[in-house]
Amino acid sequence: MTTIENNNEIEKKSSNFIEEAIEEDLRAGKNQGRVHTRFPPEPNGYLHIGHAKAICMDFGAALKYNGKCNLRFDDTNPVKEDTEYVDAIMEDIHWLGFDWEDRLFYASDYFQQLWDFAEEMIKRGHAYVDEQSAEEIAKQKGTPTTAGTPSPYRDRPVEESISLFRKMNEGAFEEGSMVLRAKIDMSSPNMHFRDPIIYRIIKHPHHRTGNKWNAYPMYDFAHGQSDYFEGITHSICTLEFEVHRPLYDWFANELANGGDYKPRQIEFNRLNMTYTMMSKRKLLQLVQEGLVRGWDDPRMPTICGLRRRGYTPESIRNFIDRIGYTKYDGMINVALLEHSVREDLNKKATRISAVLDPVKVIITNYPDDKVEMMTVENNPENPEEGTHEIPFSKEIYIEREDFMEEASKKFFRLTIDKEVRLKGAYIVKCTGIKKDDNGVIQEIYCEYDPESKSGMSGAARKVKGTLHWVSVKDSIDAEVRLYNRLFTVEDPSGAVDVDFRSLLNPESEVVISHAKVEPYVNQVAEKGKKFQFQRIGYFCIDDDSTPEKPVFNRTVSLKDSK
Ligand code: ATP
Ligand code: MG
Repeated sequence: MTTIENNNEIEKKSSNFIEEAIEEDLRAGKNQGRVHTRFPPEPNGYLHIGHAKAICMDFGAALKYNGKCNLRFDDTNPVKEDTEYVDAIMEDIHWLGFDWEDRLFYASDYFQQLWDFAEEMIKRGHAYVDEQSAEEIAKQKGTPTTAGTPSPYRDRPVEESISLFRKMNEGAFEEGSMVLRAKIDMSSPNMHFRDPIIYRIIKHPHHRTGNKWNAYPMYDFAHGQSDYFEGITHSICTLEFEVHRPLYDWFANELANGGDYKPRQIEFNRLNMTYTMMSKRKLLQLVQEGLVRGWDDPRMPTICGLRRRGYTPESIRNFIDRIGYTKYDGMINVALLEHSVREDLNKKATRISAVLDPVKVIITNYPDDKVEMMTVENNPENPEEGTHEIPFSKEIYIEREDFMEEASKKFFRLTIDKEVRLKGAYIVKCTGIKKDDNGVIQEIYCEYDPESKSGMSGAARKVKGTLHWVSVKDSIDAEVRLYNRLFTVEDPSGAVDVDFRSLLNPESEVVISHAKVEPYVNQVAEKGKKFQFQRIGYFCIDDDSTPEKPVFNRTVSLKDSK
C-alpha cells in the first residue's frame, strides 16, 4: 500500500480514468450519447466518507456530462436492512450537495422482473436448483488451477427446477436447504463462473415487500440486472468488483439477448484512510456496544458524524477531489481530510475567544467596575463578515499554559516582569502571582499600559507575545468536547488477531466541562454554527447545546494534531 503524505503533492485533477472512459464511449457514439450512472448503497448502515467518494464520482460524472444519476437502494438482504438507514442515506446525499431528482429506486422494485428472468434462465438451460448446502457447494468449487466438481443436480430437467424454484419462494423449504445456481462453467479459471449461486431462501420479512418473497437474489444477480432495467450506461464501483465484471457482462448478455444496449462496469480504488475504520459491520458494533455516542458521534467516519463534528460538504468534496481515483489500492493520510476542513473553515468560521483551561488574571491598575467594549474582527480572511465587541474588565481569564513562572528566553507568553499583548486590548506586564498550598497558581497579577490599546496610536508599541482572554464577569460557561483520533494505530482494519476495540483511543473524546467563552456566542449560537477559537482550533455548536450551556465540538485543531 502507498501512503500519500504531502498535501501539496495532490492537485485538483481535471479528468480521471473513469471520465476518460466515459468520454471514449461518448466519442464512439454509444448509448445515443447518454450518460446515466447510479449510486447503489445497501441500507444496512450509515454512509461514511468512503461512500462520499463513490457519491462524488457517480453524481459528479452525471453533472459533468449532462447526464443522470439514480439513487438505488440495494436491498436484497432483508435480514440486515432497515428504513432508518434509508432515510439517513437520503439526508446525507442531499447534505453533500447531490440530488437524484425523481429517480429513487430499490432493487426490491425489480424482484418480480428478476424472478421472471431467473425462470427464463432455467428455461434456457442456464440455471438449475441445487439441493446441496452452501458448504457442500463451496467444497466442489475447486481452485483457480483445478476444475470444480459438477453438482449432481446440474443436469436435472428444466421442469423440475422450475417447480422447485417456485416452491422455494412459497416457503416450502428451509433456509439453506437449496439454492438456484447459474449454469456456466465449472472449470472456468474465473471462480465466479463456476455455477454461482443466484437465489437463496431467506425467511425474514423485507422492509418493503414484507412476506411476499422467501427467495432472494444474490448481489451478482441483482446488481447488474438492476443497472440494465434502469438503462444505466456506466456502473461505477470499487475495485473488489473487478473480478465480478466478467459475470456482470455474462448476465448483461443474457438479458440483452442479442440487443446492443449493455451497461459498462468500471472500478476504482476504495478509500482507505489512516486511523480510520470503514467497515459498516464494525461501525455498527461501536454504536450497539455504546463505545461511541451513536452513528453521528463526531469521532465516527460517517457523513452524519463528520457533519456533527463541524465538517462542511465543501470540505469533504474538496478532499475527494484531491485524492482522486486510481486503479490500485492505497491508504490516504487522514491529515489530508483535516487539511481540507481547516482550509474551508478558515474562510467561514467566526473568530471568538475561548479559554479552555482558565486561570484568573487581575489587572491591578485597572478601575474596579470599568467595562470597555473592544472591537474585534469576525474573520480577518473576510472583512465582509464585520466585527463584534468583546467586554474587557479588571479580571480576565487566560489559558493556564500561557503563563510560566520560570520561563526560558524563547517563551513569548506571560511570565513575571515580562509583557504580552492581550489580543484586541492592551499590553500587560506581570507583577506577581498567588499560589495555593499545593503550589498551584490561583491568581496572576498584572499592570496594563493605558497607552497601548489596540487600534490607538500608542498601540504601535510591539511586544512578542499575544494572548487570547475573556472577561471573568462577562464570560459564559461552556462544555467543550475535544476530539482526537478514534484509533491508536494507523491501520486499524489491517490489525489481524486483535480485537479492534482494544485499538480504540481512550483520549478520543476529552470533555472540558467548564471552559469560558466570550458572551458574543449567545447572540450567534445555533446548532452547527462554526467558530474558530483564537489560537486553538475550529469548533462548532453541538446538538446537545442549550441556551443555558453551550456545547462545542472540536472539529480540528489549528495545526496537525497527534
Ligand atoms: P458492504 O460491506 O455492506 O457491502 P459497502 O461499503 O460496499 O459495504 P454499499 O452500501 O454496498 O457498502 O456501498 C455503496 C457504494 O459505495 C458501492 O458502490 C461501494 O463500492 C461504494 N463504497 C463503499 N465503501 C467505499 C469506500 N471505502 N470507498 C469508495 N467507495 C466505497
Ligand atoms: Mg456493498
